[in-house]
Amino acid sequence: MKTVLVTGGGRGIGAGICEALARENWAIAFTGRKAGAEMQDRLSALRALGAPAAAYFQSDVADITAHEALLDAVEKSLGPLAALVNNAGVAPTVRLDVLETTPESFDRLMGTNLRGPFFLTQAAARRFVAAKTPATIVNVGSISATVASVSRGEYCISKAGVAMATKLWAARLAEEGIRVYEVRPGVIHTDMTGAVREKYDRLLAEGLAPQARWGEPEDVGRAVAMLLRGDLAYSTGQVLQIDGGMTLQRL
Ligand code: NDP
Repeated sequence: MKTVLVTGGGRGIGAGICEALARENWAIAFTGRKAGAEMQDRLSALRALGAPAAAYFQSDVADITAHEALLDAVEKSLGPLAALVNNAGVAPTVRLDVLETTPESFDRLMGTNLRGPFFLTQAAARRFVAAKTPATIVNVGSISATVASVSRGEYCISKAGVAMATKLWAARLAEEGIRVYEVRPGVIHTDMTGAVREKYDRLLAEGLAPQARWGEPEDVGRAVAMLLRGDLAYSTGQVLQIDGGMTLQRL
């Protein structure tokens, strides 16, 4: 049985990733902040799609003191991990101009989007190295790693950090047989973009991306499934833009 841990797998992009991996018969552990009782339907759905086992763990990725216990619990329940997908992330509660960014929002975004996944990767990688297990790690970044949005600068900075973390882990872990990738979504139809739906409807209609539609969680899920399948086996450190061509430079 091949087991993957997906952070933030209960809804949005993380749910799309879990579903795509369930279809490819991964045993799925996923996390979130919500209580487990709310996740029973999702677990049943993953098993129905083809996951030989599925389990939910309530765990805040920003709490790095909880990571070892999380990995212990996952491995006890579903066996040794073969893959980690760092998907959990947050947007600013309020979008503010960079002249108004607060230290509290900056710290919250860094803690959840960058510091938490960095140290979860470190904890998982130490286990992979100690066990001499070939493994795959995927970070869910964002086009915001390179596209400046002045109304959520702290989000952009956190995702730029994720981009460098991907490079660092890819460079360090290649010799250990561990491949590390980043998927970089554009505008994806989830709760996170709920508050800006009309704005992006308009921008997409005006030509924001060559492929003039919202991305769906499934678009990101299928990209992650391809990476975990090993289809880009000789390309560690690569970034897959899942953005409908939005970041193509056009004239
Ligand atoms: P959603 O807000 O729809 O879902 C976020 C998920 O992350 C939920 O499952 C949530 O769990 C979980 N989560 C949030 N904070 C924590 C935490 N501290 N610890 C554990 N789990 C947490 O977001 P999306 O699905 O849209 O985003 C997923 C990832 O994709 C994020 O990293 C985001 O930055 C990135 N992304 C999204 C884009 C988009 O357009 N939607 C574009 C580019 C990147 P719970 O339900 O328990 O709160």
